[in-house]
Amino acid sequence: MALIELSGVERAFAAGEQTVQVLRGIDLCIEAGEMVAIIGQSGSGKSTLMNILGCLDRPSAGSYRFDGRDVHRLADLDLAELRRDHFGFIFQRYQLMAELDAVGNVEIPAIYRGAARRARRERAKALLTRLGLGERLGNKPGALSGGQQQRVSVARALINGGEVILADEPTGALDSASGAELMALLRELHAEGHTVILVTHDPQIAGAADRVIEISDGEITADTRKRPFTASARVETDHPAASGLGALADRLREATRMALKSMSAHKLRSFLTMLGIIIGITSVVSVVALGNGSQQQVLENIASIGTSTIDIRPGTGFGDRRANRVDTLVGGDADALAPLDFAASVSPEVSTSATVIHGGTSASAQVKGVSAGYFQLGAYKLTAGTAFTEADLDARAQVAVLDSDAAQTFFGSESPIGQRVMIGRVPLQVIGVVASSGASFGPQSIKVFTPYTTAMARITGSRTVDSISVQVADGYDMTLAETQITEVLTRRHGKVDFFLTNTDAIRETIQSTSKTLTWLISAIALISLFVGGIGVMNIMLVSVTERTREIGIRKAVGARRSDITAQFLIEAVLVCLIGGALGVALAYGLGAVLGVVAPSMRLVYSGATVAAAFGSATLIGVVFGYLPARSAAKLDPVVALARE
Ligand code: ADP
Ligand code: MG
Repeated sequence: MALIELSGVERAFAAGEQTVQVLRGIDLCIEAGEMVAIIGQSGSGKSTLMNILGCLDRPSAGSYRFDGRDVHRLADLDLAELRRDHFGFIFQRYQLMAELDAVGNVEIPAIYRGAARRARRERAKALLTRLGLGERLGNKPGALSGGQQQRVSVARALINGGEVILADEPTGALDSASGAELMALLRELHAEGHTVILVTHDPQIAGAADRVIEISDGEITADTRKRPFTASARVETDHPAASGLGALADRLREATRMALKSMSAHKLRSFLTMLGIIIGITSVVSVVALGNGSQQQVLENIASIGTSTIDIRPGTGFGDRRANRVDTLVGGDADALAPLDFAASVSPEVSTSATVIHGGTSASAQVKGVSAGYFQLGAYKLTAGTAFTEADLDARAQVAVLDSDAAQTFFGSESPIGQRVMIGRVPLQVIGVVASSGASFGPQSIKVFTPYTTAMARITGSRTVDSISVQVADGYDMTLAETQITEVLTRRHGKVDFFLTNTDAIRETIQSTSKTLTWLISAIALISLFVGGIGVMNIMLVSVTERTREIGIRKAVGARRSDITAQFLIEAVLVCLIGGALGVALAYGLGAVLGVVAPSMRLVYSGATVAAAFGSATLIGVVFGYLPARSAAKLDPVVALARE
């Protein structure tokens, strides 16, 4: 049984509406170990025949048996294996990969076979050394002469055994000396038992073969044997088990290395591809950090006002227009609430605007009548002097505590303690100064605090207070506290003519508002990520077209579809991951810059956001890389190789 048996092989190509019949009924047998030259004019169908012999292409009619196996019946995967394990291709234009060195090029078929890294590199080096390239192992094709490049491609053909060597015009691009050298090498391989099939249009080159087949217009016109063929021992092809997790990991690692190489070979393109991802990730991470930061800031401000304070106001709620006329809350209410066990401090509040005068200075100020407990609510800290006492309250003492702004306005750097300020015609003696302990809301005005009894009796003349604040002791349930307050006051008033608000509610509102905002802006950022992903897909698709030749070579030397898919998918994921990393770094950089330029803006980065950023980058790589990877894997190797 012959190694190669073709019978009635035809190959037609669709060219527009017509079909071009390139091969017409080829019958051919080639024994293992033969050296055959196929000769014919340009366009006679030699390369087409060669591609069919090498299982890169299938006949449109007729049968091809290789080593007894009907190639027609083999699936894509088996064809890839057949190419990988039995054939070695040598092309006219060498078809080496520019970004790999000699060893890297030679080992590619062995990578696809799943050979162990060290073994295959040793073998690649040994083969190159044997072919006289021992000094050129680390050279890239660009740094090798034509003859040397062709020898690298011979080594690549031999790495998996190279039982059948298919050489299509192997000397076509070489000078005559290198051509002669290569022919000597092919004869040597033939002598060792390799089956050598070479295609040429040059009768002199063909003369090196023992058997010359002439082809013209897709038909064999002559088949001459110069020497009788005697079968020699077939070369051994080693087929290591290319399976298992180790082999898979190795293939993935090689694909990753290839992806990195191709990215660094096209730096600008890779960077532009990443740009969308970088911008998307930067905005997601920064926006979430900004949202977290401002939420934290607001919550801290609330905490500084007093963590759990319940305010009691007259009326049915904010905006109740009759509230001003509801005369209901009085100082006695505060006294009634004070004994409740959760009430850490209770303070009524009356508030009015008034002109405050000291010496020649007069200023409009907010006059707040409060109780001694007010300063325990936490919004103010005493910085000088004392606060007023129960005795001051009972006596309606004409004393005042200034906030730091008021102290500054009236007394500058002097100590205001013991001095006197006039509110209208009411003189008040300053006994203390307080500073605001956190940011406050609303319009800022200077503040003068006085006992609420004093304020009511001498300044506002009202009988009721504006509100009562109750600070709830730590750990006490707010709802329970509210229920008890409502109970006590309802009993005293006979009806519910007041309403309660607490800072917890404000906190919740702020939290949910800022969450909504974060979601909203994140959604916008996600859209930009999506657009970035489409950019990645677009450029990957272009790169597939650009790299058809590379894909063709890889398939010719035995890459399976899954190898090509993995390579492109890994490339897409890597682009997105690196883009993601740059985006996260950029977001942190922005935070650092903002910290200097606008210290009041706070960015709080969370590990979860960063993890989510990397997760979504990977996902985008997989989702948007899949289509280009699939279209790369589907490329027909012959078409891919034909495109030069
Ligand atoms: P040779 O290698 O002998 O120069 P080829 O086998 O490359 O010739 O091509 C033989 C003929 O088949 C040429 O006329 C060429 O245009 C045509 N041909 C080869 N490949 C294709 C293809 N994929 N589609 C259409 N026509 C093709
Ligand atoms: Mg050709």
